[in-house]
Amino acid sequence: GRLADGEQVQRLLTEAYERYALVHEGRVADYIPLLAQASPDLFGLAVVSVDGDIFTAGDADYEFSIQSVSKPFVFALVAEALGHAAAREKIGVNNTGLPFNSVMAIELNDDRTANPMVNAGAIATTSLIPGDTADAKWQFIQQGLSRFAGRELQLDGEVYASETASNRRNQGIAKLLAGYDRMYFEPLEATDVYTRQCSLNVTVTDLAVMSATLADGGINPITQQRVVSADTCKRVLAVLATAGLYEHSGEWLYDIGLPAKSGVSGGIMTAAPGKGGLATFSPPLDSAGNSVRGRRATTMLSDVLGLNLFASK
Ligand code: GLU
Repeated sequence: GRLADGEQVQRLLTEAYERYALVHEGRVADYIPLLAQASPDLFGLAVVSVDGDIFTAGDADYEFSIQSVSKPFVFALVAEALGHAAAREKIGVNNTGLPFNSVMAIELNDDRTANPMVNAGAIATTSLIPGDTADAKWQFIQQGLSRFAGRELQLDGEVYASETASNRRNQGIAKLLAGYDRMYFEPLEATDVYTRQCSLNVTVTDLAVMSATLADGGINPITQQRVVSADTCKRVLAVLATAGLYEHSGEWLYDIGLPAKSGVSGGIMTAAPGKGGLATFSPPLDSAGNSVRGRRATTMLSDVLGLNLFASK
């Protein structure tokens, strides 16, 4: 079955906005100085069906840096370019149970770094993007993510500068990966491309379109363009199910039953395979780094719309 009828989806989004806008819990991320300036009141929601219908509520046009929500899309581009089997030989797909920026992800598996949703795996994934130079890789990513969104996404120069100035930890992870032969490009340049990818600006509506593309077997439901194969989507969504929500990935799947990815700027994209994409944006985060309002709103919407993949009816 597809998504419920449009009027119901719109009514539920408006209701979720009104209800969870009243929640004032969580803290805006501050380890990247510029992110700390985000207003805790921002709150937007969007749903895009595989048929191309768009529903929004709240701050749906507000642009913010995509941060870790870029990871599944960059992984999709790499799995598509290399073939998923070759990608998997280099990037593991098990949950680490550790914070996103843990160096332990490098050593958990004997022969490869852990999954593409934590920084070690994500920077290694970025290093595998086709292109001989950092700029070529960056263009590949910018164009690829723009195809997922169905419009040209732009770099937020201020976020990029702020994150570059506070990037020692990611640079260290990349160098350590290189020491283990688990980095496939010059480590500091790969980190720089990764930092740019995190600094791409999106709206919550973009995230819902990007997510709907993964839910639609790789065809962007707005542009009708094929971005990646259905096989790639299936595998990316599987990694999201186990590792998309930092250390709360298990709790998310338990409550919501859908693959999703969150980022420190407050975005969460959720995919309902064969049905559509749902996205939320609200900067205050819980202890694991997931948007508080986003998690509540997605729980409510998954429930009422009957989207949980494990529900038999
Ligand atoms: N650019 C951020 C970092 O690597 C992204 C973190 C996130 O959203 O989880 O620290």
